[in-house]
Amino acid sequence: MEILKVYFNLIEIGNQKMAHIIDGKAFAAEVREKVKQHIAKIKVDHGMTPGLAVILVGEDPASQVYVRNKGKQTLEVGMNSFEHKLDRDTSEEVLLSLIQELNSDPKVHGILCQLPLPNHINEDLVINSINPEKDVDGFHISNVGRLNTGQSSMVPCTPLGCLLLLRNHLGDLSGKTAVVVGRSNIVGKPMASLLLKDSCTVTIAHSRTKNIEEICSQADIIIAAVGRPEMIKGDWIKSGATVIDVGINRISAPAKGEGKTRIVGDVHFESCEKVAGAITPVPGGVGPMTIACLLANTVTAFCRKYNLEVSSELTV
Ligand code: NAP
Repeated sequence: MEILKVYFNLIEIGNQKMAHIIDGKAFAAEVREKVKQHIAKIKVDHGMTPGLAVILVGEDPASQVYVRNKGKQTLEVGMNSFEHKLDRDTSEEVLLSLIQELNSDPKVHGILCQLPLPNHINEDLVINSINPEKDVDGFHISNVGRLNTGQSSMVPCTPLGCLLLLRNHLGDLSGKTAVVVGRSNIVGKPMASLLLKDSCTVTIAHSRTKNIEEICSQADIIIAAVGRPEMIKGDWIKSGATVIDVGINRISAPAKGEGKTRIVGDVHFESCEKVAGAITPVPGGVGPMTIACLLANTVTAFCRKYNLEVSSELTV
């Protein structure tokens, strides 16, 4: 009897259907290629070049890496890149006056101020001093309002990246049930708005949510944006669900002897890939989409400024 059990278990493992791995790196490269072609056409047709300005205050190592990558990828797609690196102790006044300069600079079509800012600077004040039409991060209160009232807006890059991945994998999202785990202003809330805009039935879960496992287990789509390493497990997931993992967490447990730390998502990949229909890996899932969408947003901002056609593949 015991031998038979082992035999059937082995057959089950052999037949186990693993989730489709959504390749965010490859899809981000496609998005960048579309941006590049769009920019080449703008140059030929109108003799102009879209430009993105990025402001970094201080020397936070992670922010320095992001800003470097943004600058590099901006140039690779044929846009102008303007980097403004300010000392950690730069006053709020100096930062605000730089933003005013960039707001009125005709060569700059997108402005991004890398967050977090040092504690002595009011982040909301800075975000809301950026011209909403150049606010390629989509954090300005007017863009938040426009997104939530279904008007055209600049859309935050990470949720936009998640939505483009979902549409590319699932096609029409209408009628699907979606659970967004996390309610931050930069990921969770705009993600929920975008899914609602695409006619999903949306639930937002957060740290006070009761029966979170049960709520997740009803969803066709799960977006994990929590900042808790591998929190969402395979037994929380409905069979065949699409799982998008936004989380980026550095943990100290070494994997196969590769260094002292490694990056994991908010989803426990090994258990979820056995249940989900599709899943994004970390790294190589949502991460690469964020900068690709920043470039897409800059082209969108440029096109809106000059009343040119906005590519429906690059925004919502
Ligand atoms: P955040 O501002 O810290 O928000 C985390 C959210 O998760 C909060 O709404 C919090 O609920 C909720 N939460 C925390 N613990 C929970 C729990 N045990 N159960 C249910 N909900 C819980 O984080 P964020 O900025 O949205 O980022 C989330 C993750 O995405 C992080 O790992 C971050 O590094 C990553 N991220 C990745 C990218 C990318 O480009 N791939 C971009 C941005 C962020 P409360 O509101 O109740 O506290």
